[in-house]
Amino acid sequence: MAYATINPFTAEQVKVYPNATDAEIDAALDKAHTAFLSWRQTSFAERAKIMQKAADILRRDSDSYSKLLTLEMGKLFSEAKAETELSAAIFEYYAKNAEALLVPEDLPVASKDEGRAKVIHQPLGILLAVEPWNFPFYQVARIIAPQLSAGNTIVLKHASNVPQSAEAMDRLMIEAGLPEGAFQNLFPSHAQVSRIIADHRVRGVALTGSEGAGAKVAAEAGTALKKCTMELGGADSFIVLEDADLEKAIKWAVFGRHWNAGQVCVSAKRMIVVDAVYDRFLAGYREGVSKLKMGDPMDPATTLAPLSSQGAVDSLRQQVQGAVAAGAKMEEIPLEMPNVGSFFRPVILTDVSPENPARREEFFGPVTLLFRAKDEADAIAIANDSPYGLGGSVFTKDEARGVRVAEQIETGMVYINHPTMVKADLPFGGVLRSGFGRELIGLGIKEFVNHKLIDVV
Ligand code: NDP
Repeated sequence: MAYATINPFTAEQVKVYPNATDAEIDAALDKAHTAFLSWRQTSFAERAKIMQKAADILRRDSDSYSKLLTLEMGKLFSEAKAETELSAAIFEYYAKNAEALLVPEDLPVASKDEGRAKVIHQPLGILLAVEPWNFPFYQVARIIAPQLSAGNTIVLKHASNVPQSAEAMDRLMIEAGLPEGAFQNLFPSHAQVSRIIADHRVRGVALTGSEGAGAKVAAEAGTALKKCTMELGGADSFIVLEDADLEKAIKWAVFGRHWNAGQVCVSAKRMIVVDAVYDRFLAGYREGVSKLKMGDPMDPATTLAPLSSQGAVDSLRQQVQGAVAAGAKMEEIPLEMPNVGSFFRPVILTDVSPENPARREEFFGPVTLLFRAKDEADAIAIANDSPYGLGGSVFTKDEARGVRVAEQIETGMVYINHPTMVKADLPFGGVLRSGFGRELIGLGIKEFVNHKLIDVV
């Protein structure tokens, strides 16, 4: 396994990196530990200055950072720009809020015998971040901005197809003024990831990725008795009730399933539409998807990007074939497709029976599972018939009804009249096989701190 940039639009291999050696890994952990001993003593104001600088640099050089994202994983340049801005917003959020979020808390106690009690929030040490390729900057910002602000230090294992983005984050933090060793990108093998988790100086692990990687890394963290957070796959439901603004629902459905070429853990992967509006929804959705345009992701006219790799295309195709073999009906939307590049024509799958294994799978690309629900109760039942519990959405003109439905959906996030969003100031995370723990806001920064009680009796 080597780290390499392969342009998904041209299939050209641009740059290859060798894996780290064991000696390099050990030296990086030595450095991260030394850095922690002084970084944990710095003031919030000092850390905030560096986080703000990182945000400013990302905004200043947004074009060159964004080009790197498009080059390595193929997303539209406009999407890359939005990701770069979102990452900057996360750094800025913690520059402004980290100190207040971690302010010591005086505890109201029942009797004088219990003393004057307070909880302070102290950093733990080195954290390992294991991140995926679908948002190469945002995923990293989401963990390093809060955790560096809290006083932890971090080593990064990024996905093997985005090594230049990983290096860019490393350079960004150095330019922002972060002391050497406080954040380091490494190119470890999977075996070396195990070695890092086992090191006694590493105090926690945050992973975003597939269920398989999550289960393995969480098991290793468990064996070493280390805290971990897991942001894993999702199969968000997109419920359309009979009183929805159908035009709006269709517009957001097309976007929700196809942004980032459908490779988002919170893509609207399962459309669940009540019978009364199903036919109209399907006609409008089909028409909306037919208007997408595949092509060069740097061209502003392109609206559907290639997938991240040819491997991703092949495995998605195989998954669709499996769904069809198990009885699903498939409709491919006949978009014009470039001859090279990892492109995948959008597919709508219907008649996915409760016995069809596809019903419980995550499709990481432009494949829509469309369900006809009898009514609201049936729509909720279909939404909850999933091993995943990440996000979801409900479309209705009746806000109170939307909230009522949202309360019955077993996920970490539900949006009314919008596909699941990612924002710097909203929490992110799921339940069930979508993982555990939360990222962003106060919930995220508090995942890897020692909530220490000090009681003066
Ligand atoms: P992977 O799980 O394959 O990769 C994620 C990261 O884990 C990569 O850095 C990868 O490294 C690493 N990894 C994989 N297996 C191991 C292992 N055995 N030991 C150590 N590290 C490992 O997922 P993808 O990159 O394919 O990302 C897509 C998946 O991630 C989807 O299922 C998606 O839903 C989920 N995801 C979840 C998100 C969330 O926030 N909940 C957000 C984005 C994606 P390497 O590349 O070297 O294999």
